[in-house]
Amino acid sequence: MGAGIAGLRTAMLLEKAGHQVTVFEARDRVGGRMQTVEMGDGYYEAGGEWIDADHHRVIRLLREFGVAPEKSSQWPGLVVYQGEFATENQIWPDAALDADLVHEAAEALITKQRRGEDIGEDQPLGAWLDSICKSERGRWWVEAFTRSDEGEDTSQVSLLGWLESYAHYLDREDGVMSLYRITGGGGKLCERMAAKLQDLRLNSPIQHVSDQGEVIDKNGSTHLFDRVVFALPAGCLEKVLDVESQISLKPQEGSFVSYDLSWVFHLPSVKMARSVKLVLQFKNAWWRDKNWSGRMLGDLAFQQTWEIGRGNLNALGVYVCGAEAIQLMEQPNPVDVVLKSITQVHPEARESFISGAVHDWVSDEFAGGAFPYYPVKCAPSMDKPLPNPSPDLGRESKINSTRFKPYGRIHFAGDWACDWMGFIEGALESAERVVEEIKNAGE
Ligand SMILES: Cc1cc2nc3c(=O)[nH]c(=O)nc-3n(C[C@H](O)[C@H](O)[C@H](O)COP(=O)(O)OP(=O)(O)OC[C@H]3O[C@@H](n4cnc5c(N)ncnc54)[C@H](O)[C@@H]3O)c2cc1C
Repeated sequence: MGAGIAGLRTAMLLEKAGHQVTVFEARDRVGGRMQTVEMGDGYYEAGGEWIDADHHRVIRLLREFGVAPEKSSQWPGLVVYQGEFATENQIWPDAALDADLVHEAAEALITKQRRGEDIGEDQPLGAWLDSICKSERGRWWVEAFTRSDEGEDTSQVSLLGWLESYAHYLDREDGVMSLYRITGGGGKLCERMAAKLQDLRLNSPIQHVSDQGEVIDKNGSTHLFDRVVFALPAGCLEKVLDVESQISLKPQEGSFVSYDLSWVFHLPSVKMARSVKLVLQFKNAWWRDKNWSGRMLGDLAFQQTWEIGRGNLNALGVYVCGAEAIQLMEQPNPVDVVLKSITQVHPEARESFISGAVHDWVSDEFAGGAFPYYPVKCAPSMDKPLPNPSPDLGRESKINSTRFKPYGRIHFAGDWACDWMGFIEGALESAERVVEEIKNAGE
């Protein structure tokens, strides 16, 4: 169920292993949160876009389809705070100091945790950052780059959950992050994957699935399968999972989706980040004339920009996360709001502007948010040691199969049921795990 990249990869691998597979997809397209949109003479990614150099599964998948990843790094970008400019590699000294202090404090906690020492109670990452940063500008800078990674305000994110991801960053080389994009577009890659499948049903939202392998489709018809792979986003879990009444799913308070998954995964809740992407098309790539890549982090309405247009499309992407994303979506014309704020720092944007598009993943009923993160007191690292450095710099070799167990005949895939949580790589990792589970189930 679900023809995002996790479901598609699972289906591909199961068919390869000789299984008969039916994929039910709610939308009229495949790809889920990977969507390549054509605009002007080119295209852009409305959802998942960047691939890290150690996302080995994505790179291998591309190779299977005969393409190499497209090198696309736009680092270092501009940084603008209260009208003053810096760059990511030459940030203001007070901001650099706070970033260093946060890094050292995180490293110290991770080292302690790996030694089995007590690192105290979980708390909101934001509160912990407040206690470390020395300057207002430094605190803003740390928030800006952390929020762009998490897709959410740090006040919402668990310190321990964040440390788990940070532990992996410590073990990586410089320049690994966001080095590539998917050649031809991620959504297009999903279409190519789908073309290989025997039985894919679009416009087929599943209403219920039971641990006995029953799947109820939109017409109320019941289909019985040996195994069901639940490859929906965490934000859609509660809508379709039919569980025994004594097991409670606990949507949590707040305006965004959250479920208690602990009963299945021995994991507490994940939440879906509130992130929206906007795309602004321009007549010309005026940022290149300024010898600038288009990447910028700022304290204005845009939060983050980068060159999103591919092919011959001149376009900037705008990424807005957390509470500001919700506020922006409440505006009558969100594109105009971000254009105004970009024009404040780059006046040439207004003259060159053609049109804009909004991709609001938070109100998308088949996504429920952009990608998953751990809220406070819900990180798995509360119960287990943080990952140790791995010699290949990636987490490819390690699939933590004990964390995500099947529930009856239901197996769980998706970017929330994996170690690379929130990444395309994680969705592929989960697909590989599920296929192993089904092979080992021996039916
Ligand atoms: C704005 C944004 C930016 C991102 N940036 C990056 C990035 O730079 N790098 C990166 O690695 N990742 C990024 N991601 C995350 C990445 O896109 C996801 O991790 C990945 O696409 C998840 O794949 P999936 O198959 O697990 O889930 P999905 O793609 O969400 O697929 C789930 C599928 O299930 C379908 N579905 C839902 N409900 C039902 C139902 N009831 N019945 C049947 N089908 C249903 C959905 O329509 C969907 O097709 C980003 C995501 C967003 C939204």
